[in-house]
Amino acid sequence: MMSKRRQTVGVQIAAALAVLFIFVMFYFPEGQDRTSVFKPLMADTEESQLIPDAMEAGFLENERNHQQAAAVKYDRANAVFVVLARNRELNGIRKSMRQMEDRFNRKFNYPYVFLNDEEFSEEFIALTSSLTKGQTFYGKIDESMWGYPSHINQTYAAECRKNMQDNKVIYGGSESYRHMCRFQSGFFFRHPLLETFEYYWRLEPDIEYYCDVNYDVFKVMKDNDFKYGWTISLTEYMATIPTLWETTKKFIAAHPEYMETGPESLREWITDDNFKTYNGCHFWSNFEVGSLNFLRSERYIKFFEHLDKVGGFFYERWGDAPVHSLAVALMLKKSEVHFFNDIGYKHNPLMHCPIEGYLQKSCHCNKQENFDWNNWSCATRYKKIHPEFIWNEHTFKNKTSPFIPTPGTII
Ligand code: GDP
Ligand code: MN
Repeated sequence: MMSKRRQTVGVQIAAALAVLFIFVMFYFPEGQDRTSVFKPLMADTEESQLIPDAMEAGFLENERNHQQAAAVKYDRANAVFVVLARNRELNGIRKSMRQMEDRFNRKFNYPYVFLNDEEFSEEFIALTSSLTKGQTFYGKIDESMWGYPSHINQTYAAECRKNMQDNKVIYGGSESYRHMCRFQSGFFFRHPLLETFEYYWRLEPDIEYYCDVNYDVFKVMKDNDFKYGWTISLTEYMATIPTLWETTKKFIAAHPEYMETGPESLREWITDDNFKTYNGCHFWSNFEVGSLNFLRSERYIKFFEHLDKVGGFFYERWGDAPVHSLAVALMLKKSEVHFFNDIGYKHNPLMHCPIEGYLQKSCHCNKQENFDWNNWSCATRYKKIHPEFIWNEHTFKNKTSPFIPTPGTII
């Protein structure tokens, strides 16, 4: 028989071991690494699928800091800035990005995708990624998206370029400009780096943004089911698109099922003579906020393929702006196209500057320089077919205020 005293010591040792066991389990739970407590937070976000392993550590570090600071994390739209550029345009891109960050993106941290037909230099990557807290991705465009399709007669294409150059057509002699326009017309939205995104905002080198944008532009696009947003419209130089209209009319005839007709249609905007000719009106595509799903839709892809087959990107000099705009005007509803009046913007030589006092308050552009009601602008025609296309102050506030992040939200 065990003495009472020995029994007590045994119980005491067992109790001490149990306490030690609980302590060890609490501090060193099996299989739990340092970061896994943050995993559930990431699993909810769409971007978690997009984050390469190498970037995860930095992202998690941010998450930890954010968790300590506050509880509410901002839920971004599935959207991205798209920048097509050459290495030599680095300074122009930095100028554009710095403004985009200061006017808008420092409040939201949307990611950027940079695309180039060559490899980006280390300097380009370093000096662009350092300008934003958003993620940055860099991609090279391969020959399937930037180059001659097999049906193009390259000897004839070179002759066409020579003729256009002799006729002093702007970019008429440039081969790379044609590849660029074809890529922007038919491919950027299918690039692997853009595959998972829903909305894009195009950014070019050397542009100006004049106004503070305090609401989430992408969420306003989504909430209103907007598929295309613009700030400047104008008429095209017809020498660049001699047969674009007749080619488009053949597509309209072949595919009435893709066309938006009736009172919601924008098609009256692109013709002044009841569809006999194209008046050249297009949205200037150096600024675009749009739906990638629209561009990836069967109707848009079929339209692009129809145009691509006849070779006008190479034998003429079809721009991505008229191509996007014809698709928008023929296939979307008025209610799906939005004029961003509040976003003051300049791409040389044209400026959109909001002239309304309540918008001017957050801009620094000179409203005398606003291009909207100028001869070459297509805003007057747009107003004819869509008189309410400029939001009034009341609508602007109603539509945007739900998408201003509440103070304390973690971006
Ligand atoms: P413009 O606005 O019509 O005068 O033409 P830009 O020279 O601004 O070109 C339009 C966009 O395409 C810009 O973002 C350029 O950086 C880009 N771009 C034009 N040509 C090339 C090219 O050959 N390679 C690459 N990577 N980007 C290009
Ligand atoms: Mn440009």
